[in-house]
Amino acid sequence: MNIIQEIDRISELFKEDVIKWRREFHKYPELSNQEKQTSLRIQKILKSFNIKFSTAAQTGVIAEIPGGKKILGIRADMDALPVKEETGLDFASENQGIMHACGHDAHMAIALGVMAVFSKIKNLPFSLRAIFQPAEESFPCGAPRMIEEGALMGMKYLIGFHVWPSLKIGTFSVIKGPVMASADRFSIQIKGKGGHGASPHKAIDSIVASAHFISEIQTIVSRRSDPQNPLVISVGKISGGDAFNVIPEQVEILGTVRTFDQKQNILAEKNIKTILKGIETGFRVKTYLKYEEFVPSTYNDPLLSEKVIDILSSCFGKKSVITDEKPSMGSEDFSFYSRLIPCCYINIGCGKSEYFNHSSRFTINEGCLVSGIKAISRILWEIGSTESSSVHSCWKKRQGE
Ligand SMILES: [Zn+2]
Ligand SMILES: [Zn+2]
Repeated sequence: MNIIQEIDRISELFKEDVIKWRREFHKYPELSNQEKQTSLRIQKILKSFNIKFSTAAQTGVIAEIPGGKKILGIRADMDALPVKEETGLDFASENQGIMHACGHDAHMAIALGVMAVFSKIKNLPFSLRAIFQPAEESFPCGAPRMIEEGALMGMKYLIGFHVWPSLKIGTFSVIKGPVMASADRFSIQIKGKGGHGASPHKAIDSIVASAHFISEIQTIVSRRSDPQNPLVISVGKISGGDAFNVIPEQVEILGTVRTFDQKQNILAEKNIKTILKGIETGFRVKTYLKYEEFVPSTYNDPLLSEKVIDILSSCFGKKSVITDEKPSMGSEDFSFYSRLIPCCYINIGCGKSEYFNHSSRFTINEGCLVSGIKAISRILWEIGSTESSSVHSCWKKRQGE
């Protein structure tokens, strides 16, 4: 039996365990930066396979299987969302108002499955590190803290993955280059002078000024930015005022900027400032802006991604690998890793489901757990056991058949 067959055989062997792990994570979801029980569960499973680990970023776990010099990594996020589950599953969330609605329960189970598989393979030609990372969904996000605490130390390549309900089981999507957008966050205060709704001339109306500001920032996208270079500016929250007949003194506006290109973030910030200056002059208000980089854009290293596409196509067939999906304007803190070392972020088919990630009815077909373990394990084996060769052992096996 060659090693690929062995990987497949062991992956199948752990099928029941992996489903059990995933269901347990699903039943007891925890919010970002509060993944205490989740972290303990991961540690317990790692211990049962005699896999060494350390903790980082409070609830994060870094596990490693020693082998050859080259260190390869996988990353799984651990947090759930403040969503009230409506799936009706037997193992639905028991933590009121919290749900694994993004599939991070599956990510942890897949990563543990991959570690379990490689813990059974003797004389591993590479070392394998799994990063179980807290707080992907919320700020402060976990990736930068995991990096600060050494998660990437000495690592050559890192593979990230997400279960994807629009793809069938056994299919994967891999994009070369930018995969997900950056997300900046802005908060603005527009201060005027409160007054009676019946006497606007005696007040300085922060609401009218805000309305103009919100409309005008859309012209940054439509009139000031290159239409070939994606840019999204969205306001997600406005708050101000308490009564129908009172002009409030202050309005607060929160929003986000999404791009694939840092020049676009700079353009957006600069123009928001310019528009605010104009609003100050035109409406006699004072404005205060806080503009923060929240998450950079996620970048798939083209060479590594090409290899991953080759490996998946050779092992699962060309039709199983979708390479022409458009990058998403959503963001992902995997980006922090992808800024530092060659990374590849893969979508693993878990559908098809009509409910998408973050829906209170989001579910996965659990067949994606074993197909994910097989795919990630094969990628790791091929990359870890060959040196920059584009010929893979399962490809060789196919040719020999
Ligand atoms: Zn999510
Ligand atoms: Zn997610």
